[in-house]
Amino acid sequence: MRIKFRIIPLPLQKYDAVIPRMPPQFPKLPELKENAKKLSSGYSGELKVDYHLGMLVNSYTILDDVYLHIHGSNFQIDSLVVTNHAIFIVEAKNYKGTITFDTVLKQLIRSDGKIESGFEYPITQVENQTYHLRNWLQHHNLSHIPIFYVVAIADPETVIKVDGNREEIGKVVAHAARIPKMIRDKDDAFAQAGKPKIEDYKIGKLILRECRDFDINVMRHHEITREDLLPGVICSGCGMRGMKRIHGGWLCKKCRQKSHNAHRNDLANYLLLYGSITNKECMWLLGLTSRSTATRILQKSGLVYVKECKCWTKRRK
Ligand SMILES: [Zn+2]
Repeated sequence: MRIKFRIIPLPLQKYDAVIPRMPPQFPKLPELKENAKKLSSGYSGELKVDYHLGMLVNSYTILDDVYLHIHGSNFQIDSLVVTNHAIFIVEAKNYKGTITFDTVLKQLIRSDGKIESGFEYPITQVENQTYHLRNWLQHHNLSHIPIFYVVAIADPETVIKVDGNREEIGKVVAHAARIPKMIRDKDDAFAQAGKPKIEDYKIGKLILRECRDFDINVMRHHEITREDLLPGVICSGCGMRGMKRIHGGWLCKKCRQKSHNAHRNDLANYLLLYGSITNKECMWLLGLTSRSTATRILQKSGLVYVKECKCWTKRRK
């Protein structure tokens, strides 16, 4: 059973909220776009791997996007598969072209046919995750559970090469489609060896309870202030910013699209970035001239008013 599902990573949601509000000449815009592109590519790779791991849902317990805390540090794992005898860390990698694992220098080189670029060595990455997970399990009196890792190459067209020990890499790196069988074979071998079974669902639930949300304060990270953002309701039809308020709704001056609730997305994105919004900020964000219209919109958006900060925020779950 899959007991934790992947959502669009919060930092990516934040980049997607900020980028359309940047002036085209803003010096940090290319850097923001580059980060968003990387996160988006990683996310789409993870989704591809999730699809293949779906083959295991009837036999094992699966958690996507696990983010845990132990001894003062946090660690993130793309997918965890808790089988009948062990836990498997699955790290999804989305590369285009040819990748070469250099097992001596512990580096990953990607080539797109013209340019070679270096990347963090995925094996080192999963070894670190294993180390943290082992500590975490120990802390929860589960140190008897064996941990394994696999690196799943999301794109079937990526050519995998090895410079050095091919066998070593072949055991832990594979295209995503091969991963379910690798996990199943290993688990079956444990069963045949008469190893004790573990309660995969119960362990999965324990991990789920301890999971946190991975997040970045994108604004602070890039030193972007509110003054750097441009206001206006963004049209979902053509992407233009600055829809005009008409009776009970919004009109796009460019593509003439009309909408009753075009502002909802802009409000949600603002709350994603700042956690709360004042009436004045709402007027600025939506380009409203009337204070009472802003109040009405905020009231109708299912937000709650907090007296202490004179601001509106999401209802707590
Ligand atoms: Zn439009």
